[in-house]
Amino acid sequence: MKVIQHFERMKIAFHGAAREVTGSCILLTVHDTDNAQHRLLIDCGMFQGERFADERNAEPFVFDVETIDAVFVTHPHADHTGRLPSLLHQGYRGPITMTHPCLSLTRLVLEDAYHIMEENARRSQEPLLYQKEDVESVVNHCTSVNYHESITVAPGVTVMFHDAGHVLGSAFISVEAEGKRIVFSGDIGNDDVPILADTESISTADIVVCESTYGDRVHEGKGERSERLKEYLVGTIREKGVLMIPSFSIERTQELLYELNQILLHELKTDVPIFLDSPMAIKATEVYRHFKEYLQFDESILSDPDRDFFSFPNLRETLTVDESKTINDIPAPKIIIAGSGMMSGGRIMHHLLRYLGDRNSMVLIIGYQGHGTLGRKLYEGANEVFIYGQRISVRAQIKAIGAFSAHGDMNKLTRWLHPEDGKIPQKIFLVHGDLEAKEIFAAHLREELHTEIVIPEVYSVHEV
Ligand SMILES: [Zn+2]
Repeated sequence: MKVIQHFERMKIAFHGAAREVTGSCILLTVHDTDNAQHRLLIDCGMFQGERFADERNAEPFVFDVETIDAVFVTHPHADHTGRLPSLLHQGYRGPITMTHPCLSLTRLVLEDAYHIMEENARRSQEPLLYQKEDVESVVNHCTSVNYHESITVAPGVTVMFHDAGHVLGSAFISVEAEGKRIVFSGDIGNDDVPILADTESISTADIVVCESTYGDRVHEGKGERSERLKEYLVGTIREKGVLMIPSFSIERTQELLYELNQILLHELKTDVPIFLDSPMAIKATEVYRHFKEYLQFDESILSDPDRDFFSFPNLRETLTVDESKTINDIPAPKIIIAGSGMMSGGRIMHHLLRYLGDRNSMVLIIGYQGHGTLGRKLYEGANEVFIYGQRISVRAQIKAIGAFSAHGDMNKLTRWLHPEDGKIPQKIFLVHGDLEAKEIFAAHLREELHTEIVIPEVYSVHEV
């Protein structure tokens, strides 16, 4: 048997999402069986809504882009994909690999991010970070794969995608090299997501880089989520108010449509109109329809396998601005699902401007709200907010359902890190979360798993 002497050890470097929630970008340096070095980049995400986010997105990468051999993407969210065009703009020419649905959604995410950047640049006279062609070039460089296909990077270095149950086509990625198995969580989905398969077992892992967005809390259960959604729907309909649901275009919207379909049609039997007022969410829903075989619906309601759970008679998709404006003419009660999810822009702002002062209306928060966003202010109980320079007194009710979160909570992540049939990883790096959440989760894991837990600093390099 050939004994391989590695002169240098494997290294993991964190170039984002360390001690913060966004900008996922991890550089793994490994050696093949001939001792040649390979540099793999796992995700290449944008910094969003955090301090100096714009400045950091504009900075050149700290590593030499041309020395990267391959890029692997866990899932389409912009905080995991948003800097791919910059990577190409700065000279990367190697392969980018992700799952088939992830590629379709990534195209939407990058096109959307480009439009937002273009608009901001026009307003601020700032130069663009990359060109439209760079977005095209990302899509052209992408190779899409299925879960469980073994990808050989070099002799003795293989990569595999596994279902993370976070959004359609999302993955955690395992890398086998130098006799070790390293797992990168990407984002790990919640338990009992109605339309996705459960997160796959991590099986065994020596090293894990794990997200910890909700590592410090425990979500409500699935039953409670439906009950509370039903309660808010009934309340808004009774009060003849407007239920505004700021939604993330990918996954949350489709889960919500699925649940609304169930509750409104089959339980409440009402024809209150629902508006899907987000071009991005409308296009993403189209991708969900296309990749139906990747979805999993509740067995108990699968009597009609051809049923489209994302379309129902009282749902109206308002793609254009003119269509969107017609929502104002429809009398309440009505339900509006619109972006952006953190209320930091998009069509939801117009609806908030109109209805936030109405005590019969409600804002239902169903996702993570970043520091400094309007969503966070409302979530924390602000009585007064400013929208487009206008002062608005908040009279509408503000409610939140955490179980719609696309992220696993403390219990889910702990179980995932140490499945019943697996071993405890030697070392776990916690990324992708507020520092406070990570510290709470780290203390919990040390107690539960008795293993080494590291909260890496941004740009730190770790030998493993
Ligand atoms: Zn995500």
